[in-house]
Amino acid sequence: MEKTDLQPAATGGVSGEAVHSHTHDHQAVPSDLALRVKSLESLLVEKGLVDRAALDALVDAYENKIGPRNGARVVARAWTDPAYKQRLLTDANSALAELGFAGQQGENMVVVENTPEVHNVVVCTLCSCYPWPVLGLPPVWYKSAPYRSRTVMDPRGVLNEFGTAIPEDVEVRVWDSTAELRYLVLPERPADTESLTEEELAALVTRDSLIGVAKLAPPTSEGRA
Ligand code: FE
Repeated sequence: MEKTDLQPAATGGVSGEAVHSHTHDHQAVPSDLALRVKSLESLLVEKGLVDRAALDALVDAYENKIGPRNGARVVARAWTDPAYKQRLLTDANSALAELGFAGQQGENMVVVENTPEVHNVVVCTLCSCYPWPVLGLPPVWYKSAPYRSRTVMDPRGVLNEFGTAIPEDVEVRVWDSTAELRYLVLPERPADTESLTEEELAALVTRDSLIGVAKLAPPTSEGRA
């Protein structure tokens, strides 16, 4: 009798597992790592050890301010020093190291040049590989599933959504970053910048232009004043 009592319960347990359907989107569930980071952050805030606003400011600094400014300096140097540009395009690792940019998540770099004939854009279709030493932390959209899949299938459409229309006669090249190889775009130097210093040129370079989702506009009269 004992055996028959147990049997239905065990069967019920198994069938309960079996009916679990996998129609939900696994992508929507935060990764273990994201959950761990969130828990850690909550705990640190709760214990009064860190201030959430300060953390946000720190992330913002690496994502928007400090990180991409390194890449901007590289670009300004390449625009003003043809020999440096040549080294950058043929042996990016050494050329970047000349300016002090090397290290984790940037061990093996390739720099691709935008010209009137070619526009380059960088994506990581597998995850979010990004050249930390020259760009800092990747923006949220770079890590998103739509950017990662659509940039490969419809690069012009994605660029349009960033407000970057690439004429039909310009070739668009998509570079898929990996853990082994990461890319930096050398944007075209904007018109009317002949009189600017290297430092002023660097100030014109945006993060998005270094990923290839934006082009650079000539300096405004306001910006120059
Ligand atoms: Fe990746």
